[in-house]
This record gives sequence, structure tokens and C-alpha cells, in this order.
Amino acid sequence: MSVASAQRPTRILVDLDRLAGNLEAIRAHVRVPVMAIVKANAYGHGLVPVARRLEACGVDRFGVAFLEEGVALRRAGVRAPILVLGGIYGPQVAQFLAHDLEITVSSVDKLRQVEAAAESAGRRAAVHLKIDTGMERIGVHHDSAGPFVEAAVASRWCEVKGIYSHLACADDPASPMTAVQLARFLDACAHFDRLGAPMPLRHLANSGGVLHFPETHLDLVRPGIVLYGVLPAPASRPTIPVRPALSLVSRVVYFKVVRAGRPVSYGATWAPPADTRVVTVPIGYGDGFPRALSSRGRVLIGGRAYPIVGRVCMDQFMVDIGSDSAWNEDEVVLIGRQGEAEIRVEALAETAGLIPYEILVGLNERVPREY
Ligand SMILES: *Cc1c(COP(=O)(O)O)cnc(C)c1O
Repeated sequence: MSVASAQRPTRILVDLDRLAGNLEAIRAHVRVPVMAIVKANAYGHGLVPVARRLEACGVDRFGVAFLEEGVALRRAGVRAPILVLGGIYGPQVAQFLAHDLEITVSSVDKLRQVEAAAESAGRRAAVHLKIDTGMERIGVHHDSAGPFVEAAVASRWCEVKGIYSHLACADDPASPMTAVQLARFLDACAHFDRLGAPMPLRHLANSGGVLHFPETHLDLVRPGIVLYGVLPAPASRPTIPVRPALSLVSRVVYFKVVRAGRPVSYGATWAPPADTRVVTVPIGYGDGFPRALSSRGRVLIGGRAYPIVGRVCMDQFMVDIGSDSAWNEDEVVLIGRQGEAEIRVEALAETAGLIPYEILVGLNERVPREY
């Protein structure tokens, strides 16, 4: 961290002990190995520090979305198996092999591409077969998995480490879709038995599956957001005692009195009905703090919640503290606890009309992270 950003009053505080505690809580609940999902900068928490801590806790595997995220983990010295979950882009296969990354194979064509690259590199590729059971994203449809599994099992250059699918509706414990997807997935896995081939790791459960559907845990689970202590959706139930690992804080940089009727911020969308005290906070949508919180969100100052007034700007926003007091350099909590008060990512997301994932992942590199 540069001196300038170390002095920035706005920062993300990541509690790695909580993260470790969440991993333990998930393990105790599922009783199968865990692939920690650390894509998108570990959901905004910081890829390398998060992965290092989880690896020190003995996490079994990592999952990322893209090649470059896997390469970054290897460069940081992470040694656990890493699966790249995204659809592969053919020209990149040699890089997967060079960095010892496990590859998602999502069609017979992609299998052939991986085989060709593995043969020319002279080393076998570790692959996980992706089955589409209802997401219509990537993967071979469950009802045509037979020839796909056969081709993979017969492949000289691919070692099949896993077979997996992704749940579309598991964040809602009442959705009937998950049972349908599970049945389709198990049918696809049965091709290994039919062929007399050893069953690779079967994995299906994201956070929703981990929280709500024990029958989806199978041989390995892939929690993302719940690992960071956040629930995936308003319908989700907190069946595991996880706690949020991330706080977002800033400090007051300006105090003024705004006269009745004088509008605040771009577009002049809000004005106080009576004279009021307004403070300015130096963070905005340029940091990933959602503009959708304009005149809707709240922040904590001195252990109390106050409304954001007017539009959130790129680099700052204003808060109406009424007739209360606040001083320059007072702490402002945007996510997390202050005294007895708390602002949770889930609530912030609902206010903004976003999902919790977007809030976390949106917090960008301009905000220094402290561990
Ligand atoms: C992102 C992702 C996950 C983790 O999802 P969460 O809802 O954050 O738990 C699991 N599996 C795959 C394939 C993913 O892309």
C-alpha cells in the first residue's frame, strides 16, 4: 500500500479471523471437503490475503472464475488445487497447464482442445467436467452427458478430477428447482458407474446449496458468499453461524449547515425542509459505493444511523445529521458495526435494489484494504 493510500481515511477492514471461523463453521456443517470460491478479488475482500489465510486453515481447494485469477494465486505461492470455473478460451489452455490449474471442460470440443494442448505440452491436464442441469450457461446438457463422459474417461491426456454442475435457485430454500437439478446431475454422474470408471469428485453446492440443501453436498462444496459471512438472498436462512468479514469505513471531511430549501448535490434532488447540519464523506461510486444509495442509504456516525442526502457523487456524498454533532475526522461506518449499531451488506443491497454480491464485488482497488 502506498503512503498516500495508507493515509486515505476510507478503507476496507477485513477480519481474517472471522473468515477462518466461517470456514470452520461451514466445515462443521457440511462434513465434506471445501472448495473456497475466491473469484472477483475474493468477493472484494482481497484475493491473495484471503487465499493465504484459508490455505493456512487447511482449506481443500480454491475456485476462481478466470485463468488470471488462478495465475495470481500461484504467483503468490498458493499450492492447493485451483479450479478455474469459467468456460475456457482455447488459446489459454497452455497457460493452465504451465500454472498447474485445473480446467473446466464444458463440451466435447473443449475436451479435444485441452487434449491437443496437453499432448503438445507433454503433460496431462487435470479437468472437471461441467454438466448443465438447468442454468443454461456453460456445460453439456445432462441428457447428453453419456458421450461426453465416455470421451473424457477414454482421454489419454485428460485426467478427470471432478464432475460438477451449478445450482440456479438454491438461495431460496423453497425452490423446487434444486431437487430437479440434483436428480439430473446424479443421472449424469451415473455414466461413470455404467462405464466402470472411478467416480471423480462430484460437486454441486454453492452457498445456497450449502445453507439449505444437504443432499447437494456430495463429495465437495463450493461456497462463495457465505464464506465471507453474507447470505446470498433475502429468502436465505442463516443455518450456519457465519459472521461478516468485511467492514467499510471512512471519516468526516467536512461539516456545514445547509439552509432550508437549499438543494444538496448533483441534480438538486434533495433539500432540507429546515436548516440542518450536513457532513461530507470522502467515498463515492468511483470506489464502488453504489450511486443507487442516493437519498436512500444510511451510514453510522457516533453509533447512530443518519441518512445519505442527495446524489452520491463519484468521490463523496453528504449525510444529514440533523441537530446532532459530528466533527471532522469522526469515523463513518458504511458497512459493519459501530457501537450497538450495524449496517449489513444484505440490508444495503436491498436498499440499493442490488444483490449483496454486487456490493462486495463492486468495492474496487481505489479503496485500501487492511487486514
Ligand atoms: C461463483 C460460483 C460459486 C459460488 O457461488 P456463491 O453463491 O457465492 O456461493 C460456486 N460455483 C460456481 C460454478 C460459481 O461460479
